[in-house]
Amino acid sequence: MINVAVSGFAGRMGSAVVDAVTAADDMQVTCGIDPHGSSKVFAVYETVEQAVHAGGFDVLVDFTQPSVVEGNLRVALAAGIDCVVGTTGLANDKLEELAALAPEGTCLFYAPNFTTGAVLMMQFAKSAAPFFPEAEVLEFHHCNKKDAPSGTAVRTAQIISEARDGRQSVAPGKETEIAGCEGARGALVEGVPVHSVRSMGYVASQEVVFGSMGQTLTIRHDSWDRTSYMPGVLLGIRSVGDRQGLIVGLENFME
Ligand code: NAD
Repeated sequence: MINVAVSGFAGRMGSAVVDAVTAADDMQVTCGIDPHGSSKVFAVYETVEQAVHAGGFDVLVDFTQPSVVEGNLRVALAAGIDCVVGTTGLANDKLEELAALAPEGTCLFYAPNFTTGAVLMMQFAKSAAPFFPEAEVLEFHHCNKKDAPSGTAVRTAQIISEARDGRQSVAPGKETEIAGCEGARGALVEGVPVHSVRSMGYVASQEVVFGSMGQTLTIRHDSWDRTSYMPGVLLGIRSVGDRQGLIVGLENFME
């Protein structure tokens, strides 16, 4: 049985993690950490320091806020607790610095996107890119999303650019935009146009459209609700016990 602490357990993602861990046969929630949470089922702490002091868990899952995640991880990693992190806002050099605080055998796992389908979409895009001269990314999110384009769209564009090996698109670009309609060809991310749609009705969707002579290939992924992240979170929780150091990206466990 894997004992799990959920940091940010009263939030949208944290509460979905509590439900998913509770429903799994091989793990249980032993405590939750959140200044705004309460529970009749497991112990609740306001800070990770208090939870680590009380002990009783092997893995800390963190879905909190960019402003607090670093402090949470500093405490947990120094105590040798494996961490599964979905909270955004930690740059790679910061993740490396945090992982270095942990004793040998401890794992810091960060996934910018926990949906298995989005990871596969990026892998399929990497395979397709060398065979299609044109590629554009269209991403669709709910209107509360603060950033555009999404991190997944940016990463997909980078992957396509790397797989193109220096080859350039021949499709008309931003220079053909009509005055007053700038942005019609999207944002250019490493030479790949990226278009961001924000609307009620979406959670998170993305299409990658490839074009070649006489053919197009469309790869599409849709997240319809937050449960779509949970298979990836559970995979992370099950995997960190056998790994150590910093691991970034769910694809590392999808083999
Ligand atoms: P939310 O605002 O609903 O929940 C955050 C929770 O953290 C709140 O309940 C808050 O009280 C709690 N919190 C604040 N300070 C805390 C602290 N010091 N210790 C413990 N808990 C604390 O946010 P959300 O929608 O659940 O998203 C959480 C994070 O996860 C965001 O950074 C979001 O971008 C990210 N996210 C990542 C993925 C992914 O696949 N990697 C997917 C969705 C969301």
